[in-house]
Amino acid sequence: MIPMDEAVRIVLEHTRTVDAISADLMDSLGRVLAEDVASDVDMPPFNKSMMDGYAVFGEDLREASAERPAVLEVIEEIPAGTVPKKHVSGGQAARIMTGAPIPEGADSVVMVEDTADEADGKRVKVFEPTEIGENVIPLGEDLRQGQVVLRSGKVIRPPEVGILASVGAVTVAVYRQPTVAVIATGSEVVEPKNRPEPGQIRNSNAYSMMAQVERAGAKAQYLGIVEDRESDLERVIAEGLAACDVVLLSGGVSAGVYDLVQTAMRVCGVEVLFERIRMKPGKPLTFGVRGSQLVFGLPGNPVSAVVGLELLVRPAIRKMQEMEEIHRPIVRGILTEGFRQTPGRKQYVPALCKAHNGVWETCWVGHHGSGDLFSLSRANSLFVVEAEIERLNEGDAVDVILLEEW
Ligand code: AMP
Ligand code: MG
Repeated sequence: MIPMDEAVRIVLEHTRTVDAISADLMDSLGRVLAEDVASDVDMPPFNKSMMDGYAVFGEDLREASAERPAVLEVIEEIPAGTVPKKHVSGGQAARIMTGAPIPEGADSVVMVEDTADEADGKRVKVFEPTEIGENVIPLGEDLRQGQVVLRSGKVIRPPEVGILASVGAVTVAVYRQPTVAVIATGSEVVEPKNRPEPGQIRNSNAYSMMAQVERAGAKAQYLGIVEDRESDLERVIAEGLAACDVVLLSGGVSAGVYDLVQTAMRVCGVEVLFERIRMKPGKPLTFGVRGSQLVFGLPGNPVSAVVGLELLVRPAIRKMQEMEEIHRPIVRGILTEGFRQTPGRKQYVPALCKAHNGVWETCWVGHHGSGDLFSLSRANSLFVVEAEIERLNEGDAVDVILLEEW
């Protein structure tokens, strides 16, 4: 048995980065950039008006006021998307719309609210002075051509999709989504569409595992249920290794006579690096590698499988794509109820965590052991109880792993 921190270290030490591929803009959402992206244009590409109003030569308005407005000749109208044709000289103004280019000669824009058109439509009264550059975004203020806008390693979220679009990056290099083969083991396990016969249970693990894998940013490939028979296990593990970057099994890793996963892994050429972790839930958690491929044997208990995947497999999936944040955020939380455990293993307790007056408060959601998947539906986090601790009291502080958007 190894400590959890050691298990995480071993897994990450053996996790290799997947290749970069070229993706269309909309397919890049959720992926990680594998290149720096630079702008192909200045932004804005011209001196741009921020307001609807009049482009003016500010000096003309120095004395302008509500009582003594400046009266300027309107020489043209510049809607957004057009190019000004005329030069604005002293005593002149051009009617301009938000987003349109500032005409030559003008140094500022007076907003329409500070003006009144004369009845002839050819002149405008202006009631306020402007400052040089007022309501004008200068060319290149946001960005210069060639400037890097997004660095390699950035996760592409909706704002990044917009940024890529704005610099004309219609295809980008991103890390390929890792593929994960998901296998449920157990002769008692049947598919959810079937009503379990006596002695059987429904396969929930493969489905929660696939959902977690997808949330972690990988692609799940389901290889079905296999019975506790070595030849079948070998066949399906080999199938997973032939198709995917990661093979994920549930069940069959405990100490029973029918727990044959480790043996089958070894027959398939997998080097097993650990078989047990000093953690609760989920002590019998097996990990091995074949070259750059990772193989995880998660415990069959549904809660153990979920927690093990969250704490060990998810960071690996994220590291494979060079994501910066590979672990869940951890906050300090205050227990709203005491908690007891039998010392010996570091425990990850499914909990409901809430911010209350600026303080994280956390409470065990309660369950009937590591098989109680239903309790997890009330949890949004795991609080951590160190192995040697026997009891924690109400008001004690603990580390809380936030799973909020899982
Ligand atoms: P095992 O790790 O194979 O000894 O399984 C431990 C417990 O988890 C047993 O009660 C199994 O019936 C249950 N279990 C195993 N596989 C699954 C599965 N795919 N879905 C739900 N429960 C499972
Ligand atoms: Mg089993």
